[in-house]
Amino acid sequence: MLEVLDPATDKVVGRVAKATRREVDAALDAASAAQPRWAATDAATRSETVAAIAEGLRAERTPLARLITMEQGKPLTESEAEVDYAASFFEVASRESLRLGDQGLEVDGKRVRVEHRPIGPTAAITPWNFPLAMLAKKTAAAIAVGCSQVVKPAEQTPLTAVRLGEIAVAAGVPRDVLHVVTGEPEEIGEALFQDVRLRKLSFTGSTEIGRLLLTKAAARVLPLSLELGGHAPLIVFDDANLEAAVELTMIAKFRNGGQTCVAPNRILVQSGIHDRYVDALAERADRLTSGHGFDAVDLGPVIDDAAASKIQHHIDDAIEHGGRVVVGGGRRTIPGLTDRFPEPTIILDTGPEMRCWREETFGPVCPIRRFDREIEAIELANRTPYGLAGYVSTSSEDLGRRVARALDCGIVGVNDPRPAIADVPFGGVKASGFGREGGRLGLDDYLVPVTVSEVR
Ligand code: NAP
Repeated sequence: MLEVLDPATDKVVGRVAKATRREVDAALDAASAAQPRWAATDAATRSETVAAIAEGLRAERTPLARLITMEQGKPLTESEAEVDYAASFFEVASRESLRLGDQGLEVDGKRVRVEHRPIGPTAAITPWNFPLAMLAKKTAAAIAVGCSQVVKPAEQTPLTAVRLGEIAVAAGVPRDVLHVVTGEPEEIGEALFQDVRLRKLSFTGSTEIGRLLLTKAAARVLPLSLELGGHAPLIVFDDANLEAAVELTMIAKFRNGGQTCVAPNRILVQSGIHDRYVDALAERADRLTSGHGFDAVDLGPVIDDAAASKIQHHIDDAIEHGGRVVVGGGRRTIPGLTDRFPEPTIILDTGPEMRCWREETFGPVCPIRRFDREIEAIELANRTPYGLAGYVSTSSEDLGRRVARALDCGIVGVNDPRPAIADVPFGGVKASGFGREGGRLGLDDYLVPVTVSEVR
């Protein structure tokens, strides 16, 4: 068995099975047998089933949110928002799956049909930072278009995934169609990669593991979707509404304690607004409270000791390279809780020579850098192997659009701290991966276009 710990207390909050190779094989046996049956189920039934999962999630909003907070640590209100976000993927998949259709054309006397067939059986591997939502994106699309799925959630947060599986079955997904397997990543990963019946793997996680899986997939030409790490820039221009720019930063940066793939990690601020922005942000960040996610706080713990150490290391490294800490810089001590509570931190005069500019910090740290010219900000923003999200703060529509076009990433928020919604595609470019989740395109990731040409 694997023990699941509350990252705020280190108390054991649950136990899950450590799946053996044989159990993963059995899940794939069942998923393979179920695949043709589920694919043949009519679209309306699948769509209704997926909508029923959304209803199931919304009906269990509070207990699910408590489960997320318990194993992941984020404040309860954020866990509730995660349940809503997850449910919205099932709602969108339910709606969009009814709009899929084959295309037909007559060419040179031939009747040609392009059929969009479910690719399954599929597998999903997901991270700990959004234990429900990252899985919801994959499961909603797969189930809606007629794919079976074997799911491997992160070791640190498997309880939410197990519950999602139960809710899906209660909503009408046949038991053999969806399998949650928990355990050691290498063992489960190997079993999945070696089974030729698996037709697609969708992975969300770090670029490092994504690269490894890409190599394994190459050996057997397994189609992958990779939602990997990010290193989002936020560019604040002189003409930005100060209050709105600070609000955008607070939401985008400090949500989940900075443990999001779309968190701004490099904040570029134009000289004319720089000092006012820093003062206002420092005042807000300093007021953020930390504690157990059940206690109406702004920041929960980070996931584990390694994460807390990495954050501290990034701060120390920035200081060593000339960065000036104006807020935070250390950890908070909270009686009765672990020491995984990094202070909200603002560092000025940061730049590409620092680790926090090159790697994801995944913590509540705002590295800020002053700039003068638009072109300079764009060049710095794009100077990264990553390309997931980017943000622009300006009151000029022209400037906002121009800079959004110039940013080399998959999703841009112009004065919008939450550009990712279930109705539209989400995904990265460069080392942030490929494939899209959300909207109609998110379903395409689980479909194969097959051309049938008839001569009569
Ligand atoms: P991670 O270490 O890459 O792990 C992600 C998942 O892969 C976990 O389930 C993990 O299992 C599994 N895994 C690890 N090694 C494996 C192997 N050899 N074979 C098969 N599976 C393996 O990432 P994380 O620390 O959980 O999540 C944080 C990362 O995810 C950040 O880089 C973040 O930016 C990224 N992320 C990206 C998006 C996006 O949409 N682009 C969204 C959220 C997060 P164990 O947990 O059991 O080790």
